[in-house]
Amino acid sequence: MATRLLSPKLLNDLRYFTRPLNSASSASITAVSPLNLDEKPKPTAVERPPINQPSTTLDLNDHQKLFDSVSTLQLLRSSANLGLASIEPFVDFGLWVMNSRLLETSLIRGVILKTVKHTFFEHFCAGETTEEAGECVKKIQEAGLRGMLVYAVEHTSDNAGCERNLEGFLRSVEFAKSLPPSSVSFVIAKITAICPINVLRRVSDLLRWQYKDPSFNLPWKLNTFPIFCDSSPLYQTLQKPEPLTPQEELDFQLAHQRLLRLCQKCVEDNVALTIDAEDTSLQPAIDYLTYSSALMYNRDDNPIVYGTIQSYLKDAKERLFLAEKTAEKLGIPMGFKLVRGAYMTSERKLASSLGYDSPIHNSIQETHACYNDCASFMLERIADGHGAVVLATHNVESGQLAASKARDLGIQKGNQKLEFAQLYGMSEALSFGLRNAGFQVSKYLPYGPIDMVMPYLLRRAEENRGLLSTSSLDRELMGKELKRRLKNLQFSKPEITAPSSIKVEIGTQ
Ligand SMILES: Cc1cc2nc3c(=O)[nH]c(=O)nc-3n(C[C@H](O)[C@H](O)[C@H](O)COP(=O)(O)OP(=O)(O)OC[C@H]3O[C@@H](n4cnc5c(N)ncnc54)[C@H](O)[C@@H]3O)c2cc1C
Repeated sequence: MATRLLSPKLLNDLRYFTRPLNSASSASITAVSPLNLDEKPKPTAVERPPINQPSTTLDLNDHQKLFDSVSTLQLLRSSANLGLASIEPFVDFGLWVMNSRLLETSLIRGVILKTVKHTFFEHFCAGETTEEAGECVKKIQEAGLRGMLVYAVEHTSDNAGCERNLEGFLRSVEFAKSLPPSSVSFVIAKITAICPINVLRRVSDLLRWQYKDPSFNLPWKLNTFPIFCDSSPLYQTLQKPEPLTPQEELDFQLAHQRLLRLCQKCVEDNVALTIDAEDTSLQPAIDYLTYSSALMYNRDDNPIVYGTIQSYLKDAKERLFLAEKTAEKLGIPMGFKLVRGAYMTSERKLASSLGYDSPIHNSIQETHACYNDCASFMLERIADGHGAVVLATHNVESGQLAASKARDLGIQKGNQKLEFAQLYGMSEALSFGLRNAGFQVSKYLPYGPIDMVMPYLLRRAEENRGLLSTSSLDRELMGKELKRRLKNLQFSKPEITAPSSIKVEIGTQ
């Protein structure tokens, strides 16, 4: 068991191990251009540096350069969809409909799903089938980005469903192999799709109890990196849980075997796998499965299995430090996707229903600081030759700080250990800005039948509601670029008007 490998002293040292992202010299911070929404039309032709060629700054001012690979039609559609998503009453109504019994009437269900398909689904998802997702990957590759293939299943309650979902993930890996080299950066999987939820909940309980009482024996437990730390909230397990029943143990073993089959396939096809993070009631079991698989499959400086850390959790930083340092001690290269976290409402509701403090930071500023500290830590690890990170965020400041820090640390732009990532249909300006600065950037591409993708779409609707939502910068910059193109159209002769048909479509397909 590797759960308590680090001494309290080392743990204490780790707290001071990293400089925050914004602690680089002030010269380097100011070298990254501030976010300036003023339009600065460029009269000259747009030249994008070839990917992997270092450029000095992350420039989000020049909307012409940012959107040079996007057709006018596509810009219009993206603007309209993001505009709709920003109208709170519209989103509220949509959420109410999606959660109501209206969906039980097949006629109404048909109409609603069709409407969703031609608006939010087309905007945020890569298609209904693997082939459609493949087309989407090719388009984003033409725009200088890479794809993360996400067969968007989650929350399954029985083994038959888990087997079906595993087949879907295996097909994703097979398909990724058939696409142009390096156009797919990762295949993504959710553990709730290959292990019944009730088993994940029970295993999480048992792992929490064992952290409280190390003498508590878990006979099925394999080696893993640390899953908890001193600051981890354990309130979800207040009483000693019963051991797994023979059926639960069998179900858990089957789930573990499914994950191992998926990892084996990824190794054979040389496709990296990232395991998404979900809610904290299940996350200990998810981390356990992820880390024990990483221990088996991550070799030779090549992490095949990546876990995910949610920086909105109060214990995120300490857990990341512990897991990464333990991986180093054991000589295992470990990759982490770093996100802020998408289950804030349900986490807070659960904690308050149990009468405990939320496991989520008390303010968004603390979440931002935690994200930037974790990013800084991982960038320093990469500069020292350990670990790998996917900086999955739409936050412009985090993107700017990380790009600046990577440059200061001398991390080469083509370094396979550093990837930036945004969700498909979101933060196009940041994705293109990072691409133009020479970094590797991926879009997270969920695909699958529309009703299967619905929980994902509901989370995106929630995230994009309101005028101050994540997508407001995109809407503003897209609006400016559309105005500029319209102006050009008015003042240019028809035969020399830039044909939108030669532009690459991105954002929806
Ligand atoms: C490629 C990719 C993969 C992802 N994978 C996962 C995943 O596996 N698991 C997962 O949970 N999410 C995942 N997400 C979603 C992610 O967690 C965020 O919900 C989303 O990216 C918005 O965060 P942001 O970094 O873009 O920052 P911003 O938009 O700047 O910040 C918004 C985030 O801050 C946090 N926040 C907001 N208000 C408060 C508050 N009052 N107090 C404390 N914190 C607050 C929340 O996490 C919120 O999502 C992924 C996102 C991307 C881009």
